[in-house]
Amino acid sequence: MSPDPDSVRRWIRPEIQALKAYHVLDAGKLIKLDAMENPYRWPDELVDQWLETLRDVELNRYPDPGAQQLTGQLKQAMQVPAGMQLVLGNGSDELIQMLALSVARPERVVLAPDPTFVMYRMIAEVAGMRYQGVPLADDFGLDVDAMRAAIGQHQPAIVFLAYPNNPTGTLFDAGAVEEVIRCAPGLVVVDEAYAPFTDASFMPRLGEFPNLLVLRTVSKMGLAGLRLGLLAGSPDWLGEVDKTRLPYNINILTQVSALFALQHKAVLDEQAARIRADRAGMLDALSAMQGVQAFPSDANFVLFKVPDGSADRVFDSLRRQGVLIKNLNPAGGRLTDCLRVTVGKPEENQVFLAALQTALTE
Ligand SMILES: *Cc1c(COP(=O)(O)O)cnc(C)c1O
Repeated sequence: MSPDPDSVRRWIRPEIQALKAYHVLDAGKLIKLDAMENPYRWPDELVDQWLETLRDVELNRYPDPGAQQLTGQLKQAMQVPAGMQLVLGNGSDELIQMLALSVARPERVVLAPDPTFVMYRMIAEVAGMRYQGVPLADDFGLDVDAMRAAIGQHQPAIVFLAYPNNPTGTLFDAGAVEEVIRCAPGLVVVDEAYAPFTDASFMPRLGEFPNLLVLRTVSKMGLAGLRLGLLAGSPDWLGEVDKTRLPYNINILTQVSALFALQHKAVLDEQAARIRADRAGMLDALSAMQGVQAFPSDANFVLFKVPDGSADRVFDSLRRQGVLIKNLNPAGGRLTDCLRVTVGKPEENQVFLAALQTALTE
């Protein structure tokens, strides 16, 4: 017997009913350039070694609740400054959720530039908080005056800054980020999901700002399937945030596999360097196309704009030609007519560029 729709409407919170579920398209056999994944696999001998480490895993036991060995390895791999603490999450998404749950009150605000990573808004609303977006400048840089004014007005509990930003690829000016950190009354979380593709980072500067936390993930560096993120900052903050964590949130296969992967981090670093080099080629090729405006990127993807009103048609044409990218046109606002492509293997990038050329001239 199906539930009475009135009953669902009565009991599910209205802000949840108003949400649109985070929608991920099934790639099927398409060339997958939609989700900022690292396209490269490990060499066969590394896969064999990894499988060997899984042999001893005791699936009948709960994992180490504090994932201590992995935490130690991550501190080293991510160059977390001495004296700073880590909390690990099932992806950095879970850490964003823990942060929101730690500060949530109905009148409290989460603030971030617009456009940015959609999960900040989604998680704030699920946690019952208000969300405030602040438009980016024309070049997708931080509008410091607008940020300062909005922060003064809304007194946000948390400001999220994706650095580099998703979906624009922009690396905000470090001085502008610093100003935001200084004028914010609450926490500022610098989300460095794309750290493998840029030299810039606030990680070494954690000790300079009492309200700064740095968020990282292993997803974009080539381990998206493991679901592992980390939040770094002062033990005073993280000791509290950690209380919202569900026990054993990092499963044993993730703990063992991430530990193994980080011991062979050179392989991932090399892949990231290749992606970074190929990003330049992607940007040049897109910029050279008639009717395309490509935006500079410090991440592993490139945002680009196609002629007025053509984004949905171009996106569908690409899909028909076997390539899946991200259509941002439905998001509207500054993302109208925009599409986002993840940098893939050279041969995938070539197929995409040829298909785009076809789509634009159809
Ligand atoms: C992809 C992305 C994340 C999510 O990473 P997971 O660790 O896979 O949950 C977080 N922040 C930004 C800005 C992202 O683009």
